[in-house]
Formats: sequence, structure tokens, C-alpha cells
Amino acid sequence: MILPNMKEAKIRTNKKVNISKYDVDSKYKNIGNNKKYFIKTYGCQMNVHDSENIKALLEEMKFQEVYNMEDADLILLNTCAIRENAHNKVFGFLGRVKHLKEIRPDIISGICGCMAQEESVVNEIKDKYKWVDIVFGTHNIHNLPSILNDSLMKRQQEIEVYSIEGEIVENIPVKRDSKYKAWVNIMYGCDKFCTYCIVPYTRGKQRSREPEYILEEVEKLVRDGYKEVTLLGQNVNAYGKDLDINYTMSDLLRDVAETKIERVRFVTSHPWDFNDEMIKVISEYDNIMPYIHLPLQSGSDRILKLMGRRYTKEDYINLFNKLKENIPNVSITTDIIVGFPGETEEDFKDTLDVVNTCKYDSAYTFIFSPRVGTPAEKMKDDVTIEEKNKRLHILNESVNKYANEANQRYLNKVVPVLIEGKSEKDNMLMGYTDTMKLVNVSGSDNYIGKIVNVKITDVKTWSLDGKIVK
Ligand code: SF4
Repeated sequence: MILPNMKEAKIRTNKKVNISKYDVDSKYKNIGNNKKYFIKTYGCQMNVHDSENIKALLEEMKFQEVYNMEDADLILLNTCAIRENAHNKVFGFLGRVKHLKEIRPDIISGICGCMAQEESVVNEIKDKYKWVDIVFGTHNIHNLPSILNDSLMKRQQEIEVYSIEGEIVENIPVKRDSKYKAWVNIMYGCDKFCTYCIVPYTRGKQRSREPEYILEEVEKLVRDGYKEVTLLGQNVNAYGKDLDINYTMSDLLRDVAETKIERVRFVTSHPWDFNDEMIKVISEYDNIMPYIHLPLQSGSDRILKLMGRRYTKEDYINLFNKLKENIPNVSITTDIIVGFPGETEEDFKDTLDVVNTCKYDSAYTFIFSPRVGTPAEKMKDDVTIEEKNKRLHILNESVNKYANEANQRYLNKVVPVLIEGKSEKDNMLMGYTDTMKLVNVSGSDNYIGKIVNVKITDVKTWSLDGKIVK
């Protein structure tokens, strides 16, 4: 049993990152024969992509995916630790898994992802959820075959969570959810240590993948007919800073664009590392999409300092304006936290002021959620929950207004849309514009996987409706 340790997880050294290549041991290859798995994924794109790796590892062991948990022999929850409600959802879902296990005790259940990296969570699972069979973390996804094997052999709870800076394992197989757009990790971990954030503890130190591996992966995706890649990292603008070679995010963006993949996206950006060279490259290449997610978090300099964000309101607005001036038709979205410990009415007004200045295309807004072990957890928080809710409500009204205004500008315009599949709306297709607007379109299934021109015929706050035009 290897348990996580938050103190060890925050240690950063100058040790060189170890790069290894995954290779499945043949003795694990038939573990999943005639067995089915179900995986539920919470949280960010990084987790979604981790689940794509987990699915491929399981299928190498001959497990088959099912989409109904009741049909599964193996149930995995790939969890998120970013906010309290993500925690609650997982523990709520565990109740359903337990119920199933009471009926079929042979079901194997497991927890992985960021919550599995949290000391308090794993201690709770060890003490109160003894029926959960396996727990593994973000650093050892590639060990899943051996962890599963040990669990089946010993029939005891297997917990294997490393609190380390982390390594890079290339060659982990992947079962992509889409045939048209793909996530590509360009880096792992984060060294920013924003005071509210658990990621540097759950995902380890910043480790950039070497460009050759990334480009090889993108080139293969192009050959396989993929239309879009999203370069993934917690803080992509800092890509390359930890490499021995002089190669940065702007170099990578240029090289990925040169592969001629039709659409390149990247998430998530930290305003601090967004430099002029990157803006230049984005504006030079038509296949780098004019969409940027630029987390603000707060508009108050005082709160930004407490958050450890390393930019001011003025820096942020200057960067925002530069992006708007240099990248034609760019759409910018953001993340905002309200009710950070000690946030005054004045601080909140500063946030609203930035929202009113930037008029974002969309924003993810949250009430501050203290994460165990982070510096912000220990900060004095005298803002009442009623006040926080009130501020969130006011903020959301502004955000929604600007989102609607941004969408209104699309009415009657013809925009390129990558059709991804069936819409939840009756008998329609769905896809995204270059600027990341969700569009529902009527048309035949033949359009799925193609980038088509769509005339926008109706506008909602969070989506657009349109029809395909020649
Ligand atoms: S840059 Fe992002 S991932 Fe890193 S600590 Fe800050 S909020 Fe967390």
C-alpha cells in the first residue's frame, strides 16, 4: 500500500525528469477476457484524456467498454479535486457502486485521478470504503495492469499513489473518444502554486514533453484523418521552460501548425506566460484557432496577490487588448472565482469592472472552494456564504449578458463548423466554430467529421442554430 502525502507532493527539485516508454507485460494481456468495464470521468480535459489512456490500457487487457454501469465487471471513477462539489459527486456516486457490489461482490471498483492524490481522501477510502478495490493516482496510470492484477490475486484493497515530482511515460496507448478531434498532452504538472489550487500537488512538477514526441503524435493524427488537435497542459504558455533545449510554446505552436492539421487549439493559458511571440504565431497561422481561454480569477490586485497569480488587473487588461488587436475575430473566455478569503465589496467591484471591460464570450464562474493542504485553505475567510452567492449571482448576470451579446454578433453570418456528431437536440448535428461556439445544425450524417460552412439562423446565450450552406 502506497499512500499519498501532500507535503512530499509539493517538493520541487532540479532532478532531471525521467522519460520512459510504456510496454505492457504479456502476463497481463488476458486479465480482462470476457469482462466489461465502465469508466466515469469527472473534471477537466486532462482527465478526459487520461480516461482515453485508461480505456486503451484496459482494452489491451481484453476488457470491453460498456456505457451502462450495471453491465460492468470493472467500475472506475476518474476523479477531479478542483472543487468541493466534485468531491461530493464522487462520494455520492460511490453509493451507487456500493449498492451494485452488494448484489455482485465480484465487481472490481476503483478510484483514480486527482482525488486519489489527496491524502485526506485516500485515508477516508482506506478507513471507510474498504470495499473499493483499487486506488491509483495520476503518476502511475501506466501501472494499471499490474495494480489490477495484484487486486485480483490478493483480493485485498490495492492503493498505489505516488507523491512525486513525476516522470514522463511515452507510448501509453490511447482510445480516443472522437475520430475527428484529439487531445494531445504537451506537458504535465504545474509549478505555479496558485494559493487556492490543488493541481501542483495532484499532478506534480511541470514536465514538458519533448517536441519530437508531440509532433510525431500530431503527424500520426493528421495521417489518421483527424481535423483538430487541442494541445493540453495546466499552463501551456510555460511549455518548454523546463526543457534543456531552447524551445518554447510559440515554437511548438508553429511546428504543430506546420503539420497542416486543419485546426489547432490549446488549453489552458496563464496570463503571466503569454508573450508577444505567441500572439504573433497565433495571428500568422489560419489553422491556429482564434479562441483563447484566459483565466482571470479576480480583477482585484490585492486578491490576485493573495492568489499568487503574478499579474495585475492592468497587466491582464493590456494582454486582453493585445490579443483582441492582433488576432482577428478572436473569442476569449475566462474563469473567475468569487468569495476568495477576505474579498471585499471593493475587490468584487474590480472583478466586475474587468468583466465589463473585456465583455467575455463566456466565463466559468465559481465560489471559492477551500482545498485541503493549499495555502488558501488556511486564510481567514470572513465573507459569508450568502454574500458569496449574491456576488456570484451578480457576476453571472453580467457574464450571461455579454455571452448573449457575443453570440448575437453571429446572427446571419456564415462560419466554419467542424461537425462532431449528433446533437442532443432533436435530430440535429452539432459542432463548434473556429471560435469555439457550439452550433446545432440540421443536415445528414454524411457531414459528421467535416468542416462545413454554416449560416447562423438563431442565437441563444450558450449556443447557435444554423444551416449548412455551400
Ligand atoms: S497555473 Fe493553473 S494549474 Fe497551476 S497552480 Fe495556478 S490555477 Fe493551478
